[in-house]
Amino acid sequence: MRWTKTLIPTLREDPQEAEIDSHKLLLRAGLIRKLAGGLYTFLPLGLRVLHKVERIVREEMDRAGALEILMPALHPREIWERSGRYSIMGDVMFRLADRQKKDFVLGPTHEEIVTELAAGELRSYRLVPRTFYQIQAKFRDEIRPRFGLMRAKEFIMKDAYSFDVDSQAADASYDAMYQAYVRIFKRCGIRTKVVEADTGAMGGKWSHEFMVLADSGEDGLVECTSCSYAANLERAERQPPEPAVWETGDDLPEPVATPGQRTIEEVAAFLKCKPAQLIKTMIYRLDGKPAAILVPGDREINEHKLPQALNVREAVLADEATIASVTGAPVGFAGPIGLTIPVYADLGLKGIRGGVTGANRADTHTRHVSLDRDAAITAYADLCVVKGGDRCPRCGADLAEQRGIEVGHVFKLGTKYTEAFNASFLDENGHQQTLIMGCYGIGVTRTLQSIIEQSRDANGIIWPTAVAPYPVIVLPMNVQHEPTMAVVNRLVGELETRGIEVLVDDRDERPGVKFKDSDLVGFPIRVVVGERGLAKQQVEIKRRRDTQAVMSPLDEALTTIVNMIQHDTQQE
Ligand code: ATP
Ligand code: MG
Repeated sequence: MRWTKTLIPTLREDPQEAEIDSHKLLLRAGLIRKLAGGLYTFLPLGLRVLHKVERIVREEMDRAGALEILMPALHPREIWERSGRYSIMGDVMFRLADRQKKDFVLGPTHEEIVTELAAGELRSYRLVPRTFYQIQAKFRDEIRPRFGLMRAKEFIMKDAYSFDVDSQAADASYDAMYQAYVRIFKRCGIRTKVVEADTGAMGGKWSHEFMVLADSGEDGLVECTSCSYAANLERAERQPPEPAVWETGDDLPEPVATPGQRTIEEVAAFLKCKPAQLIKTMIYRLDGKPAAILVPGDREINEHKLPQALNVREAVLADEATIASVTGAPVGFAGPIGLTIPVYADLGLKGIRGGVTGANRADTHTRHVSLDRDAAITAYADLCVVKGGDRCPRCGADLAEQRGIEVGHVFKLGTKYTEAFNASFLDENGHQQTLIMGCYGIGVTRTLQSIIEQSRDANGIIWPTAVAPYPVIVLPMNVQHEPTMAVVNRLVGELETRGIEVLVDDRDERPGVKFKDSDLVGFPIRVVVGERGLAKQQVEIKRRRDTQAVMSPLDEALTTIVNMIQHDTQQE
């Protein structure tokens, strides 16, 4: 392909709209253009990369035995009502009506649709196991579409769904997808970290996320500095710390006036104590019933962990009226002593002495609190958001905190959807049994951008060979010089015969402009053909990720380039 025949609208300046480097580079390298918030057009080079990522995904899905299908993106409302998710999905789902005023949605994911298919088709044990997948646009009305392709309103997902006869077989399907994901991300040239994840609205048994470590990541995660434990912060656990002994514990609880001091910071400053000495008391509704949740003052409650830890379906913060009625005090002065509702405390509060809490009275706190002695604790549990420096739940070593971008997610779902859709099969003995399901997603467009986020420098993108828009760019220094163009055309012809895709920068531009653009777009191998080199029968070959170029004799250039590509594709 020739530069002058395609469309590569590179930009010199960082576009205003872009916040993170990979987003800036997608725009500056002329790979995508914005239509509106969260909606993007792929230009020729961007689309080439997208197709390459999709091809890797397809090859690995096929290799793992999954079957490609294509489901509609437009779904009738009824099918989402059957699982209960028509309401649970809330505002994230795009909803619309046809001319007969029948309600439809644009698919944010496809569990319902594929389970309907399985219910109709997988009726005998002879047809199970089956894993289906598709690569398709998904629609989500995100609260904050941002960072380009990272969080878009329309994006491309590979979603796969497995159906098995029993739990053990379902584990094998899960494992096959997990291994396929490891291979996919490796072939795309990105390093991922697999973490234990929250099952959230999917309502599954367990799940893992594939994270690309990056400071710009929207997800927090911890990994153990000693063993292999790693988890999303939504899900991460910790071993209880040493008991917080601030005082001997001989003093009895004592009210202290704290006029107008409501927040942890205000009270700690006013009473000249550490935030950690405070016992944060929040009133929640657990499946509708009020309960107090206590965590150390310097910690946050992890709402994702509450349902499982406290064995409830739903945990939501109580409103002001409820807080006033169960504590008898305005918001900001709740404490566990004397409450008649259940009180759940984080393990980090076990054995605390000399704690400070709200006194359930306006403008008053209580000090010298020994929680076990002074309050009726219903149960201690792991309730707070884990932080770097906490102890690993497996081995006790320090946990380290990092940021990550979720590029893939695998779920063991169980029977949540198959029960709702009556997806059952006849087993060998003629008995009706429910199918066991798993679901597996890869954000294909998010993966594309994550590759850039992880592989770039001050000058631009550094594409891994397997996904580069073209693995080779050839720069003729002077397009008017006929011998130069003759060499270029011959080399390009030979490379293309070998199945290697080449872009020729045939613009009549200064060399500086061509070098800059070649680095910005990030082609893995750059070949410079200039009059000075040709005088010595040489061309210059340089890898994007290397600082040094090599001069290669003309008649060896082809072999050198082919070998580099082979070597690099295996290395990445
Ligand atoms: P997130 O927590 O980032 O919102 P999710 O957990 O809701 O994502 P899943 O339902 O697990 O996402 O979707 C599968 C994959 O699709 C994700 O792992 C992610 O890579 C990708 N993805 C999800 N939402 C978006 C989006 N708005 N834009 C681009 N990719 C997305
Ligand atoms: Mg997810």
